[in-house]
Amino acid sequence: METKDLFTESYRITKEMVAIPSVNGTSGEKDIGLYIESYLRDIPYFKDHPEEVVVQLLKGDKLKRRNVFAILEGRRSKSCRTIILHGHTDTVGVEDYGILKKHCFDSDSLLDALKEVPLSDEVRKDLESGLYMFGRGSVDMKSGDAVLMAIANLMSERLDELEGNLIFAFNPVEENMHTGMIESLDFYQKIQKERGYEYIFAINNDYTCPLYAGDEHNYIYTGAVGKLLPSFYILGKSTHVGQCLEGFDASLIASRLVEKIDLNTDFCDGYEGEYSLPPAVLKISDLKDFYNVQTAQEAFVYFNYFVHDASILEVTSKLVTAAHEALSDVQNRIKECSESYYDKAQMEYIPFEYEPNVYEYKQIYEIAKDTFDGNLEAYIRSFISGLDDKKYDIREKMMLLVKELSQIAKITAPAIVFFYTPPYCPHSTLHEEVDREKELIDSLGKILKDVEKEENVEYKMLHFYPSLSDSSYIKIDDPKDSVEALHKDFPDMDYLYPIPFDKIKGLDIPAFTFGTYGKDAHKWTERVHKPYTFGVLPKLIEKTIRYYLEA
Ligand SMILES: [Zn+2]
Repeated sequence: METKDLFTESYRITKEMVAIPSVNGTSGEKDIGLYIESYLRDIPYFKDHPEEVVVQLLKGDKLKRRNVFAILEGRRSKSCRTIILHGHTDTVGVEDYGILKKHCFDSDSLLDALKEVPLSDEVRKDLESGLYMFGRGSVDMKSGDAVLMAIANLMSERLDELEGNLIFAFNPVEENMHTGMIESLDFYQKIQKERGYEYIFAINNDYTCPLYAGDEHNYIYTGAVGKLLPSFYILGKSTHVGQCLEGFDASLIASRLVEKIDLNTDFCDGYEGEYSLPPAVLKISDLKDFYNVQTAQEAFVYFNYFVHDASILEVTSKLVTAAHEALSDVQNRIKECSESYYDKAQMEYIPFEYEPNVYEYKQIYEIAKDTFDGNLEAYIRSFISGLDDKKYDIREKMMLLVKELSQIAKITAPAIVFFYTPPYCPHSTLHEEVDREKELIDSLGKILKDVEKEENVEYKMLHFYPSLSDSSYIKIDDPKDSVEALHKDFPDMDYLYPIPFDKIKGLDIPAFTFGTYGKDAHKWTERVHKPYTFGVLPKLIEKTIRYYLEA
């Protein structure tokens, strides 16, 4: 294979991979793993070295999903320098395609079908340009996997020129819990130990897209945004609607909390001029199961919360403050509305006295531990295992545990208990003040300048890949006290959501995202820009490999 063949080869593989429906949570995730494995095993080098293709089945996974790795060792001279190139192999669901659903895994027939349906001007223009391939997973990120597979193929014939090693990795389960990547850490540690590899950085080939209307740049990211899911269990005082002024409605507290936090740019986290998006509410609900004439006693709210650099302590403190304010706003509102009503009705008003409180999970846990008669940990184990998996997702299970511990701790209403639920994606980037990282920033800048000169592209290097990605799990910038703070406010984290912090800290691999280029990932108009993704991206990756492993 030659560099000039990379376009055709990665384009061909992408088409074949789009045709394998590897929707997250389906057996298609296993099928795509098998496809990748068979592609790699067909490469002459791996026919001679079958042990260099490694398949790691995910632990206890009923769908038999697997990580697939391929290792190439340079032969010019032995070196421990190693670059990881990785991609996820799952896609999001396809319900969004509606009447086009039967075409979503066939990029050719989808192209024809799209001509028959109403499209926005931009999508129509892209469709008619002939520059885009459509289909589920086209940009996010089967084309990215395909490029890596083609590069593996190419480099397998160039090992005499390399002084260092390449690990190609293809991981399932990215689109929700990142299990593939998290379990692959064991593999990276094992190889590091056995072969003395030193990971200089990893390249994630996930999708990139314009960041604003008319944006012409291509982006290269030197790290990943962090994500938290701050959650609130709200305990109000319910009342009959006939005495509605006598309660402290959990729904009202929840809505006030959402008003305070949702889309509020005070919570945007800035680092060297890059700002994270504001929090967005992902759930707001009361805990009533049926209709009655009581106001809500309890409610549950959580937010997506992006982080660039802020410590968990800082984030928690801001959110706890917002919770205090929400409670006091509701208290004031009840007072004002009561005064107004009793004044209108010409009745005497005797205000109710409330003492609203905000707790963090760790406080509730400590109080419960003191109050509980017996072994609280054992009780938590049996409480959690008694919760029906089909009925409750992991966030609801944690919320129910918070509720249970609040009762044991005899928390009085009105109150808000603040805690974190999954997922948690650590943030990381490269820092100018760290020598090794500064060198990487500078050298990467040089490579990008070269590619800009040769190809018709304009790159911008940014710190944080803005979508959630597997890159979060190979480097973590959160300092120890920040991680500890998270752990303490994360209900039953060790059992329900163990994150291998020590492994991530130990590996500490700078996490780049180069990435495919296209538009509308996770939408039915998802499409990949062929000239960049199959034309420029493979050259950029090849150049990068050569820069670091031919020196
Ligand atoms: Zn992706």
